[in-house]
Amino acid sequence: KGERLRLPPWLKTEIPIGKNFNKLKNTLRDLNLHTVCEEAKCPNIGECWGGGESGTATATIMLMGDTCTRGCRFCSVKTARLPPPLDPDEPYNTAKAIAAWGLDYVVLTSVDRDDIADGGSEHIAKTVANLKERNPRILVECLTPDFRGDLAAVEKIALSGLDVYAHNVETVRELQRHVRDPRANIDQSLSVLRHAKKVNPHILTKTSIMLGLGETEKQIESTLLRESGVDCLTLGQYMQPTKRHLKVEEYVTPESFAHWETVGKDMGFVYTASGPLVRSSYRAGEFFLKNLVE
Ligand code: SF4
Ligand code: SF4
Repeated sequence: KGERLRLPPWLKTEIPIGKNFNKLKNTLRDLNLHTVCEEAKCPNIGECWGGGESGTATATIMLMGDTCTRGCRFCSVKTARLPPPLDPDEPYNTAKAIAAWGLDYVVLTSVDRDDIADGGSEHIAKTVANLKERNPRILVECLTPDFRGDLAAVEKIALSGLDVYAHNVETVRELQRHVRDPRANIDQSLSVLRHAKKVNPHILTKTSIMLGLGETEKQIESTLLRESGVDCLTLGQYMQPTKRHLKVEEYVTPESFAHWETVGKDMGFVYTASGPLVRSSYRAGEFFLKNLVE
């Protein structure tokens, strides 16, 4: 304990930049959009914005401010009990900006707002509806809070017109208390995903797990089994954002990630993405446009 692990070579490699990257980068300036891709310095930005071979650009936008009411031990977003109130114009303005930006696939995510009665679900749903009205062809994924298990909030979003409902369980069952804010837990998270699918069977559900927090293979396997009602799964390496956050216990090898991808496929997930740099939104557009729309 105490010693920090050295970064393995597979996390130091240069990532290719796709053809749309510069176009998106240059047009973002005037739009006043807050992308997680830039703010979290995500290493996949070249690939996601660039859209790879198909030119299918994906980006993640943060809604409801930059301050969260929770304090998960892996996350560098700042925390307050009472963040500033929501901007009532955000659903309209953000939808307008995204529609003008030229994305094919957008992930709308947010901080958790336990200070607001509906957790901000109406606000998120309105953003989706505004965006789809302006650009019906854009695919929309919402990566949502758990709304403390409030299924009416989940329903509002599931019926907002989105294509993919994502909510992350983040880690194996055994490490939930250690890693996530105490208000979160895996059963609550799974019930959110199940409810979204139940009220709208046309959408895909999706969840994500970080590896490298000290979980065992057995724990990963049983967590995946439990999640198998969810359509899509991503697994990626946990990276410590600052010294105050949980340490990386292990850099999981690319071979192990490949193994989990096979396990996920065998368990019947529609889509499994697993790799050291995979994030829940990693190249989402490329995959969904290629495989699921038609
Ligand atoms: Fe943005 Fe997510 Fe892609 Fe990272 S993985 S660049 S946050 S869309
Ligand atoms: Fe970060 Fe989400 Fe946890 Fe808030 S709820 S601290 S944004 S991971």
